[in-house]
Amino acid sequence: MTTAIPELKITPAAHRLSDAERAQRMGSLAFGRTFTEHMVVIPYKDGAWQTGEVKPYGPLSLDPSASSLHYGQSIFEGFKAFSQPDGSVKTFRSEQNAERFNRSAARMAMPAIPPELFLKAADALINLDKGWVPKNVGESLYLRPLMIATDPFLGVRPATEYLFVLFASPAGAYFPSGVKPVNVWISEDFVRAAPGGTGEAKCAGNYAASLVAQAQALEKGCDQVVWLDAVHREFVEEMGGMNLFFVYKEGDKTTVVTPELTGTLLPGITRLSLLQLARDLGFAAEERKLSVQQWRDDIAAGRMTEVFACGTAAVITPVGKAKANGFEMTINNGENGPVTMALREALLAIQHGTAADKHGWMRTI
Ligand code: PMP
Repeated sequence: MTTAIPELKITPAAHRLSDAERAQRMGSLAFGRTFTEHMVVIPYKDGAWQTGEVKPYGPLSLDPSASSLHYGQSIFEGFKAFSQPDGSVKTFRSEQNAERFNRSAARMAMPAIPPELFLKAADALINLDKGWVPKNVGESLYLRPLMIATDPFLGVRPATEYLFVLFASPAGAYFPSGVKPVNVWISEDFVRAAPGGTGEAKCAGNYAASLVAQAQALEKGCDQVVWLDAVHREFVEEMGGMNLFFVYKEGDKTTVVTPELTGTLLPGITRLSLLQLARDLGFAAEERKLSVQQWRDDIAAGRMTEVFACGTAAVITPVGKAKANGFEMTINNGENGPVTMALREALLAIQHGTAADKHGWMRTI
């Protein structure tokens, strides 16, 4: 039996910005500060998703007792839409985001949203706000779906009412003056996620809990924090809001290694795509555990030649230096490495439609 997908009522803003006004707002895009003119809201109650609305972007009205504000039933996603050479707009693997959204929802005892409804909401918003999709390479329209519990009830139990919200933010090039390696702080004082916890869910609390560790990384002169496993405090998990890759060279053979999914790290969609792209480019690709000691030994022996992080926002960021209490290592002389940059170019070319999309990752709006 197939259930019908709820309708979306379209209520465009009464006064749309002129092209000149929009161009002015899109002139200098600091990440996440500029939003398009519309958003989507879809309520859930009585056990079902209700008719949603695409309406002017603006504040939400919430009861102060809404349980998401207290107990954190709150999840989100992030994906991008890219302008294509023929003038069309395509999203990158957004159906994967819909699936991950539902896995996060299941972990937080929240209802699943039909992936077709999640994608229909994105299509409707992007269509209405098409003028906000930037045209230059490296630029995109960032889509932010989220779901919060809205029950006005102070009991600790899964809510019965929720709100799905989707809005969009035009994003400029992440590295406006060229790609530059970041320095990372390997955190021994804080852990991000423990076995059986919420590490593989994109729930709001994971990010709140990461902020003090990120502040410590900054204090130590680093840009980002690297998380270790909670049990042994030994194996590398991920970096801030990105997954990590390690590049090995033995003679002519190049292997990229990324920490295996253990349930405590976020299964990144960029990570998944790069495992495939690495193989397409003739590299070997492995998912396995990697300890900090192994990382140090392999850098010292010259077997490990590059390290990079990957995620939707920055695509690929090289890692130039890793520090922890008592040691520090420089990777590839603190410079951008060739494997890192080849993978970055290959992924950006697919996203911007200048290379063939042979895996069917781009979804036409
Ligand atoms: N790890 C964490 C903790 C993240 O928040 C993200 C961003 N979603 C990633 C990794 C990278 O995932 P993706 O490639 O799907 O953006």
